[in-house]
Amino acid sequence: MTDSERIVPDEETLDPPDWEKFRTLAHRMVDDMVTFLQTVRERPAWRPVPGEVARRFDAPLPQEGIGAEAAYEEFREIVLPYPMGNVHPRFWGWVSGTGTPFGMMAEMLAAGMNPNVKGYQHSASLVEAQVISWCKEMFSFPETASGLLVSGGSMANLVGLAVARNACARGEVRRHGLQAYERSLTLYCSSETHSSIQKAIELLGLGDDALRRVPVDEDFRIDLEALGRMLAADRSHGAHPFCLIGNAGTVNTGAVDDLEALADLCAAEHLWFHVDGALGAMAYLSPRLRKRVAGLERADSLAFDMHKWLYMPYEVGCILVRREELHRAAFSLVPSYLATSDRGVASGSAWFADYGPQLSRGFRSLKVWLSIKEHGIEKYARLVEQNVAQASYVAAAMEASPDLELLAPVALNVVAFRFRTPELEEAEVDALNREILHRLHESGEAVPSQTVVEGRVALRIAITNHRSRRSDFDRFVAEVIRVGRQLVATGKHRSARTAQVPGQRR
Ligand SMILES: *Cc1c(COP(=O)(O)O)cnc(C)c1O
Repeated sequence: MTDSERIVPDEETLDPPDWEKFRTLAHRMVDDMVTFLQTVRERPAWRPVPGEVARRFDAPLPQEGIGAEAAYEEFREIVLPYPMGNVHPRFWGWVSGTGTPFGMMAEMLAAGMNPNVKGYQHSASLVEAQVISWCKEMFSFPETASGLLVSGGSMANLVGLAVARNACARGEVRRHGLQAYERSLTLYCSSETHSSIQKAIELLGLGDDALRRVPVDEDFRIDLEALGRMLAADRSHGAHPFCLIGNAGTVNTGAVDDLEALADLCAAEHLWFHVDGALGAMAYLSPRLRKRVAGLERADSLAFDMHKWLYMPYEVGCILVRREELHRAAFSLVPSYLATSDRGVASGSAWFADYGPQLSRGFRSLKVWLSIKEHGIEKYARLVEQNVAQASYVAAAMEASPDLELLAPVALNVVAFRFRTPELEEAEVDALNREILHRLHESGEAVPSQTVVEGRVALRIAITNHRSRRSDFDRFVAEVIRVGRQLVATGKHRSARTAQVPGQRR
């Protein structure tokens, strides 16, 4: 090597110094991940991160690189072995999607092409536009509707409610803000509505007080009479009710509001109809289940998640808005440095940044596009049906057991239940069920989550998992009973921490 070759060049790149070495590493990464998914059933549903592993994440900012091989080894050692568990067939906590192997590879392709899907003329824009068209078709929305892929249900709710606010607040909110309004804007939803709606209302400057929580009936659906009374009372006090939010599947119990009745009411009372379908909208794909969520296709804005019940890898959700011009009016802002032109990259009509707060946007449509092509939408409908049938199956097994009780009817894919025993007081039953939950998690046997239903601690499963089998549910029910009985027999539930009922977190 001559001296001049040894001199460090002043031009650098992040590309691999040796492409063939990188290719070998990349193939190994693919192999490892395919094996990871293929063998997921052999591992526990969850295991805690050991202290000595967690401490390794305290290391300071690396000044010098260690190279791709060494960095990947660290991933294999301290990241990959401690997953959340939602890829596992017995993970039913919160509302968690499982993802798919092909979806995983789609993420690699998207990252490799790495387009910025703000708009302009390139294939990713066409992919996203087509996925949005498919979404309209899936939910019987008109072709003239608009849509946007977003990070998930929370962002979909925020975008939908922003459009609602701007469309309904008479005057120019974008120019004058909410200060210009004398009458306070109010919205309505059931008391079972997801916390992301509250966050959206707060972010939109409306304030949580504007969000009126309507009581629910015995099936945890919005009480229409109470809703009517609240609307009338607010109007008589000078408020301006402008929006009604319906649930297609609540987190606690999977309840579906009477969406047809809500759509009728919105038409009669001139309210914007927003549907939060993050959990349950996909039931609409199944001809057999469609009637359970019927009415969502009448929404002015429909929010739904594809990383939950469409089994796409995180993150991807979608908002559809019936009237495109109102959607665009809420977000469109095209400064000169972003203007489209007749020719070149900046040509093309797609301009997604006009329909939401994000300018730069990832290629999240690719995994949806490829996955729907891989399986066809009918297979997704069958899997949704399978999960609903599994929920009924578990519920029936629980009803048949003297040790278990259901805490809510099973409307879709959520089962809320608890272990019961006549020997214990209510507070002790709460503590007992929390202890059962912790033991199920810590043993890696299964991952349900907890909530509170009518003041009682509930264990709940939300089945948005294409890997679960009937036998997984048999095993789960048997294990809940075994652990519960053992705790009661040994008096261990008494030592269980009697923590406060946890706040709403799903
Ligand atoms: C999960 C969920 C949300 C929030 O969706 P993210 O994808 O987590 O942002 C909103 N509403 C309901 C009913 C949900 O289940």
